[in-house]
Amino acid sequence: MKLVALTGGIGSGKTTVAKIFELLGVPVYNADKSARYQMEHHPILKSLLIEHFGSQAYHVDGRLNSEYISGIVFNEPTQLTWLNQAVHPYVAIHIQEWLMHAKDLYGVLETALLKESMKLTNFYKIVHISSPESLRIKRVVIRDGQLQEDILKKLRFQQTEEELLELADFTILNDGSQSLILQIHNIHKSISNEILKKC
Ligand code: ADP
Repeated sequence: MKLVALTGGIGSGKTTVAKIFELLGVPVYNADKSARYQMEHHPILKSLLIEHFGSQAYHVDGRLNSEYISGIVFNEPTQLTWLNQAVHPYVAIHIQEWLMHAKDLYGVLETALLKESMKLTNFYKIVHISSPESLRIKRVVIRDGQLQEDILKKLRFQQTEEELLELADFTILNDGSQSLILQIHNIHKSISNEILKKC
């Protein structure tokens, strides 16, 4: 199965667009959710994180203390690099397992960190969701109730629109001016036809 990256900054609409791909029958893998799952369930990784960040890295019920960890890594770039390097091997193995069992023409890997994900696996195509930063911030404030300054901190660690545009094979404009469903349908048709032609 070919793998298509679906990327965009926080609040650009990745989860929304991924749901539409799923409705079209395309399997979706969420790299951020997978990283979280590994951090909460893989005993070796859990021990590593506790050793590095302290026992506060987890709540008493075993859930990841995201607020605590975000407070560290989004204030200190070397800590974010450390975290990514610790978690990525576990996500990479899981992606390979997912790909081995899939039988579809292509699957979508949803990721906020495209360059990091490109180190884990190869992509057949890259789909980028573009949306103005001010609109993205407004959406995340409504979605998560996060403070604007916390969102801005996270944004600084993500790829810029210019970087993503350069890497992208397709760009979906999600600023409310164009139909999302139509744009996604056209991309789905184009990718499926190209793969079928090569078969
Ligand atoms: P991401 O996964 O990239 O962070 P989401 O898909 O969660 O972004 O979108 C952020 C918020 O904006 C969500 O609450 C979502 O429902 C909303 N949203 C996204 N795209 C649109 C749109 N075209 N129209 C209205 N709301 C949208």
